[in-house]
Amino acid sequence: MAGTARVATESTARDVPALHVVNLSKRFGGVAAVANLNLTVRRGITHCIIGPNGAGKSTFFDLVTNVQPATSGEVYFFGEPITGLPQYRRAALGIARKFQAPTLFPELTVAENLYMGKVGHLGWTSLLRRRDIPAADDQVGLMLEQLRLAGESGSRAADLSHGQQQWLEIGVALMARPRLLLLDEPTAGMSLRETAATADLLGALTGDTTTVIVEHDLSFVRRIADVITVMHRGESVAEGRPDEIAQNALVRDVYLGRKSL
Ligand code: ADP
Ligand code: MG
Repeated sequence: MAGTARVATESTARDVPALHVVNLSKRFGGVAAVANLNLTVRRGITHCIIGPNGAGKSTFFDLVTNVQPATSGEVYFFGEPITGLPQYRRAALGIARKFQAPTLFPELTVAENLYMGKVGHLGWTSLLRRRDIPAADDQVGLMLEQLRLAGESGSRAADLSHGQQQWLEIGVALMARPRLLLLDEPTAGMSLRETAATADLLGALTGDTTTVIVEHDLSFVRRIADVITVMHRGESVAEGRPDEIAQNALVRDVYLGRKSL
């Protein structure tokens, strides 16, 4: 009996989603940016959210990280209610986000930026002096390899190409070993070649880390997503595997009609 109970508990724990939002809403005056959104992200997968401009995708990330408070609804992180929990407490629980705006230290080297990602969440970045950054760190070294930036380890972040800077930002976010990684339009401004390289890179880079990616580059999303949710006017209007979404008539009407897959 005890054994059965333990197995049941373990399987329940495995089934608890990484992220679960219930009737989540955000109003800006008369605009419902996010409107009674119900969304579940299974652990360990890459879950992409697509939708036209203004669909509420970035606002959804704001509500998950509490950059803005929700008007109503609940957010659960690995089964724990985190609604109302401040931003820094969510980060400490393991929610990391790469913003659309750059957050790198441009004058620090690539390796130094990664080291900042490792220690920054401890809250003492501002006390860290440059000479305190170790010349070699195993986790930094591994991440440099994974990012294919080992050759740029000593370059200033500001001197990297646009694509490399975006990859470095993802690497910095992963250095804190988050349990949930949120990426808002990681391919924005990238060339076709950089976008393709990002798709290759992301799979290896994120590994088992649950990753939610907001994008409107559909060919990119189809390459990397396990599950796609389509948002429209703050709501989830469709969800499924990439092949299911590509064939969904409603999705074609709402969104894909203007952009072929
Ligand atoms: P997406 O990321 O899908 O393009 P957003 O979440 O940025 O969409 O925006 C959703 C809607 O909410 C849009 O109509 C946008 O104009 C509105 N919105 C977003 N942020 C604010 C804000 N701070 N104040 C007022 N309206 C906002
Ligand atoms: Mg956006």
